[in-house]
Amino acid sequence: DTKSESKQNYVLEQKFISNNAIDTIKKLQKAGYEAYLVGGCIRDLLLNIQPKDFDVATNATPEQVKKVIRNSRIIGRRFKLVHVFWGRETIEVATFRGPHEQARADNESVQHSSGRILRDNVYGSMDQDAYRRDFTINAFYYDVTKKKLLDPIGGLKDIKNKTLAVIGDPTQRYQEDPVRMLRVVRFAAKLDFCVEPLSEAPIYHLSYLLADVPAARLFDEVLKLFLSGKALRVFELLCQYNLFKILFPKIGEVLSTSPQAEKFIRQALSNTDDRLNSGKTVNPAFLYATFLWPVLQQRLGQSSWLEKLPNLLELQEVANELIFEQSKYTTIPKRFGIPMREIWEAQIRLAKRQGKKADLLLSHPRFRAGYDFLLLRESVGEDTGGLGAWWTKYQQLDDQHRRVMMQDLS
Ligand code: ATP
Ligand code: MG
Repeated sequence: DTKSESKQNYVLEQKFISNNAIDTIKKLQKAGYEAYLVGGCIRDLLLNIQPKDFDVATNATPEQVKKVIRNSRIIGRRFKLVHVFWGRETIEVATFRGPHEQARADNESVQHSSGRILRDNVYGSMDQDAYRRDFTINAFYYDVTKKKLLDPIGGLKDIKNKTLAVIGDPTQRYQEDPVRMLRVVRFAAKLDFCVEPLSEAPIYHLSYLLADVPAARLFDEVLKLFLSGKALRVFELLCQYNLFKILFPKIGEVLSTSPQAEKFIRQALSNTDDRLNSGKTVNPAFLYATFLWPVLQQRLGQSSWLEKLPNLLELQEVANELIFEQSKYTTIPKRFGIPMREIWEAQIRLAKRQGKKADLLLSHPRFRAGYDFLLLRESVGEDTGGLGAWWTKYQQLDDQHRRVMMQDLS
């Protein structure tokens, strides 16, 4: 039972815990405050995963934290937080949150008519803070000095059963913050956990609530989803819960009629996972370029690019339109939008190799991404007339042999 588990002494592997997080906590404790490691980092440590980052929860207010720790800054978007800077690492320190009922009375919390919470800055106890978190497995507190794990919600049993369960009434918690539905998908995929049936059932009906979430926040969340190393599983879950078509309505439409489009996206996601799991990086622009590719192709209205290449200007126009439309759902910052279009343009340019064009392309900063994209198209069966192999060979040869290849072209 959870009571006895909360008394159990779990000693987490100290060597996986960031020294900066420990120093942050010790400084706060020395000044007389309570401070704990909290949330995802404890969950990961319990599951033998190296945490990405470390969060601290305390009963000190942000202003008090700032006084105790000089290398820090108060940041405030939806929630006021303190960032503590230790060289390249930032430790996030949050003050325990109280219930919003009280926050509303004090006019410190703002709730949208849909139930979505827009602002809340009312502080509370550790127990109250635990109930405000999303999942039972994200509500652990660890005292690094006493080496003691606190489990006020009873999340340890869910760690053991590999179950993802929302704290409180799932419907209400999704209404407060629809992004929690995406977090269900992310953690279920990342940890390979089952979603508790009561937490799963409402998602099917509430997926539409995501449409209300600011597009910039959704963009951040979508990146986390697809750069998790479990992108293919994420995609399957998003489709299953009707979330995918809310995030990407145009792609959703194409997917429902084109098995080839689905094959393409799945292959792209599987390649993304392979890259990330072997320590390589993935450019989000490439990922978004693959998502929207089937829609782009459909809008350009040509079945075979081998028979007739689309016009470059027309492609640019359709590309801009498509990026603009998708941005209404998930923002696409310019630093991604521009390379996305270049990757698509490269699909035309790579076919036009005559004269000096091939060498110019080769020195273009987007060549590699464009070439990888071409190989991806071929890997799902598109006939490009051997264009991928041509470019593979061209890259490997010296100038003299490249000239021979050019002569063979004409
Ligand atoms: P990771 O950092 O691996 O993505 P995480 O669990 O640390 O996972 P964060 O987004 O860093 O996720 O959030 C830190 C903690 O804050 C979570 O563990 C959870 O307790 C709480 N939290 C984050 N987002 C929400 C939310 N939308 N609703 C309620 N609690 C949340
Ligand atoms: Mg985190």
